[in-house]
Amino acid sequence: MALLEIKNIRMCYHSLKTETEAIKNVSFDVNDKDFLSILGPSGCGKSTLLNIMSGLLNQSSGTVTFDGDNIRNNLDKIGYMFQKDHLFDWTSVWNNVTLGLKIKGLLNDETIARVETLLSNYELTKFKDHKPTELSGGMRQRVALIRTLALNPKILFLDEPFSALDYQTRLNICDEMFSIIKQEGKTAIMVTHDISEAVSISNRIIVLTKRPALVKKEVNISFKNNNLTPFNRRKENEFKEYFDLLWKELDDYND
Ligand code: ADP
Ligand code: MG
Repeated sequence: MALLEIKNIRMCYHSLKTETEAIKNVSFDVNDKDFLSILGPSGCGKSTLLNIMSGLLNQSSGTVTFDGDNIRNNLDKIGYMFQKDHLFDWTSVWNNVTLGLKIKGLLNDETIARVETLLSNYELTKFKDHKPTELSGGMRQRVALIRTLALNPKILFLDEPFSALDYQTRLNICDEMFSIIKQEGKTAIMVTHDISEAVSISNRIIVLTKRPALVKKEVNISFKNNNLTPFNRRKENEFKEYFDLLWKELDDYND
């Protein structure tokens, strides 16, 4: 059975005067340990879909099930990362990464040890007492990921997590995040409008139509060498082939 099943999701936003149909009808499955990207143009409904999949937003109709049970009964299994890192600049890295545990009353010897291991594995121990303002954009993103992982979620939802970073940092952080997510054995669902990013990091890509969203195409991504980092995938011929295929799918928006 799939880890996450998205069935006939439809979403309309209502205000007093207007109705915006964001998602027309979307269904797909996510398997355990997938790194799945949802690709589509700006405004097509990607964030809406991610928020519904993670149980943050109520859909107009359709179902999202986690291990056969409503996602809303499983909110402790999900972690979320946004485009902005939303770190608190007035307090230390340590307080930032343990805040979620504190709020949930889960700060104990075991969870403290887990956070300490994460900080040490990802070379942040010596910055534990620093304020986020003293860190580079890339390090901040790593801290944000560790804060999410501190709660030990099974699935990570990433909404354009690299788009606020400059190009070079983005490529580096993409490698780092990928390796952390793989090492920690998590399932990840990432929203992006960047074809290269999606091809470099995912094993599956769902392409959405323009708004209201439908699934336009599903593409499995596999490279002959399956141990490549996202950055090294970019140098392969297969990368260009996938890029061209997806480019053509998205290019239809211009006609
Ligand atoms: P994407 O993430 O692909 O850029 P969104 O999911 O943010 O797209 O938005 C899809 C559509 O829904 C857009 O037309 C947007 O203006 C609209 N929308 C998003 N959030 C709301 C909201 N809270 N209320 C009304 N309309 C919204
Ligand atoms: Mg968005």
